[in-house]
Amino acid sequence: MSTYSLAIHGGAGTILRTQMTPEKEAAYKAGLARAVAAGEDVLRQDGTAMDAVTAAVCALEDEPLFNAGRGAVFTTEGAQEMDACVMDGRDRSAGAVAGIFGPRNPVRVARAVMERTPHVLLIGPMALQIARDAGLPFEERDYFFTQARWDALQETMEMRRKGQESDDPARRHGTVGAVARDRAGNLAAATSTGGMTAKLPGRVGDTPLPGAGTFAENATCAVSGTGHGEVFIRYTAGSEIAARMRFLGQSLDEAAQHVVMKDLHDHDGSGGVIAIAHDGSISMPFNCEGMYRGSVREGEAPQVAIYRDA
Ligand code: ASP
Repeated sequence: MSTYSLAIHGGAGTILRTQMTPEKEAAYKAGLARAVAAGEDVLRQDGTAMDAVTAAVCALEDEPLFNAGRGAVFTTEGAQEMDACVMDGRDRSAGAVAGIFGPRNPVRVARAVMERTPHVLLIGPMALQIARDAGLPFEERDYFFTQARWDALQETMEMRRKGQESDDPARRHGTVGAVARDRAGNLAAATSTGGMTAKLPGRVGDTPLPGAGTFAENATCAVSGTGHGEVFIRYTAGSEIAARMRFLGQSLDEAAQHVVMKDLHDHDGSGGVIAIAHDGSISMPFNCEGMYRGSVREGEAPQVAIYRDA
């Protein structure tokens, strides 16, 4: 029997201490702690890594503070288009959806694609039909709306009109994700996002692409990314970490640090990853100010943090 471990994230980016009130920080940390607890509950009862990452991501999707499910960001046209993916380290089976709106928990739709269809990635009406067939809950537009995300869209559009848009894409993103190893030694990863504020309609990021924003393989690691999705796609962030372990014999931390601090960082790819190795070790590097994150290993107290030091 192995021991379990779990890590989660609620997005990385320009999270400035100067703009954080003690109340806001406490609310974020409470949301992260709830997600760690939701995932750990599954693992403690000998549940699978796949069930644990699904439960943890659902908890984050239900929390309006994070950019996924409720609280997703808006496109240039004021719509919300969500991407999600799950991947099972046992056999690399995966399910994903892109650009969907309506289901309360996009991660569960991704899982339904994996479990109920012969495909990996669905878009459009059939993705929603799979969700309906699986009996998953849908919500109205009001449920997903948050004033803060709407204001962020207006602000970004105004800056674009004035030609002042910050060249720091870290300001505009966020995502949620989880990786786990269960007591049977199996790994799984799940990621869910609203994407980037003021993205073009139809834009798909790294989140629903196995090997880019989400990856799991028992022999190496499970990874969930958050950051400038276009760069995560071009540098196949998740599978690159696994390849470094597989071919170079690097530890999880060496491999994850290299990809985040060199490959992504040097190519305008701000963001970070959470990753768990086959041996249960955890690595959570990020190359920007902060990353909302949390983790727990069997027998240890859960941790949550936002900045480098806390
Ligand atoms: N990676 C996500 C995307 O590009 C956004 C994020 O993680 O902040 O859609």
